[in-house]
Amino acid sequence: MIPFVDLQSQYKALKKEIDPAVEAVMTQCNFILGQPVAEFEKAFAAFCGAKYCVAVASGTDAMFLALKAVGVGPGDEVITVANTFVATTLAVTYNGAKPVLVDHDAKSYNLDPKLIEKKITKKTKAIVPVHLYGQLADMDAILGIAKKHGLTVVEDACQAHGAERGGKRAGSFGAAAGFSFYPGKNLGAYGDGGGITTNDEALYNQLVLLRGYGSPKKYHHEFIGYNSRLDTMQAAILKVKLAYLDGWNQARAKAAGLYNQKLKGVGDLVCPDLGDPKSHIFHLYVVRTQQREALMKHLGERGVGVGIHYPIPIFRLGAYQDQNYDPAEFPNADLFKDQILSLPMFPEITEAQINEVVGAVKDFFK
Ligand SMILES: *Cc1c(COP(=O)(O)O)cnc(C)c1O
Repeated sequence: MIPFVDLQSQYKALKKEIDPAVEAVMTQCNFILGQPVAEFEKAFAAFCGAKYCVAVASGTDAMFLALKAVGVGPGDEVITVANTFVATTLAVTYNGAKPVLVDHDAKSYNLDPKLIEKKITKKTKAIVPVHLYGQLADMDAILGIAKKHGLTVVEDACQAHGAERGGKRAGSFGAAAGFSFYPGKNLGAYGDGGGITTNDEALYNQLVLLRGYGSPKKYHHEFIGYNSRLDTMQAAILKVKLAYLDGWNQARAKAAGLYNQKLKGVGDLVCPDLGDPKSHIFHLYVVRTQQREALMKHLGERGVGVGIHYPIPIFRLGAYQDQNYDPAEFPNADLFKDQILSLPMFPEITEAQINEVVGAVKDFFK
């Protein structure tokens, strides 16, 4: 049995640090924000190479509030990629704006910058690149286009904590970036959690107010804010885990390298692009095959945990049928939705476990 992700072995390894961190929060009975959240925010901002972090209740809220803070509102259009998790576009929709989709490129699965400009209109306010599966999007190209057209870039970095290129990390490229600390993410809490990074002090101050009822001073509510705070216990847990994140990301990249080596030339499999060094932290290890359904069934029978990220692209989701997206505009996303398959990937995965997965895949194509 090879699980798709293995949160238990990580907890076992860290129990001696995590249990006392949680106990300290309970002993102090200071359950909202407080020092653990402030400490985690500071440490996570430093990790990303950003000046500020505001910790919030989820990655979805992080994207929602980041877009709100940069001024996205009713009537605006926000350009993003068609093959993302629904939270990316929900964050746009919650702000009353329209998600304008572009296709992804076939190699990186990330937003194809060449397709952005023809989608820009007078209503376009922002571009939201998603660093999908843990691989940095082509930020040079995207930032260049944004600058040329006066658009704001908000990164969806929910799968990319620590991915870097040219010494810059996810969360430090755009005006702001949203992160998720959902348990299965590369940096995962033991419940929901999220964070927004930014280098802009005014934006930071605005975000602090937005997550806390819009009140600079208790009971002085200056505008309509929200209650979206990272739970204090989750912050204590995340602070412990953050110290290990670089090592975990390296372990994932190493596992991806082994998979690629061992799966080369097997059947019709297309293995993922490893990207330039450090730019891909392999939140997910995604292959493609024309025989996805049969391979998935075979791996299930062999006890190998797999997933599909994502089986239904945004333009085919029930929630977005009112947008009348034309699937023909997104040929890669529409084709690959039936071919992509995520294999087991977690930092603790051993070479023996990888061999077992590879063996099961090879048996299928024999
Ligand atoms: C996980 C994820 C989110 C949302 O994060 P939650 O913490 O689950 O709300 C947003 N965008 C992407 C790309 C994600 O993978």
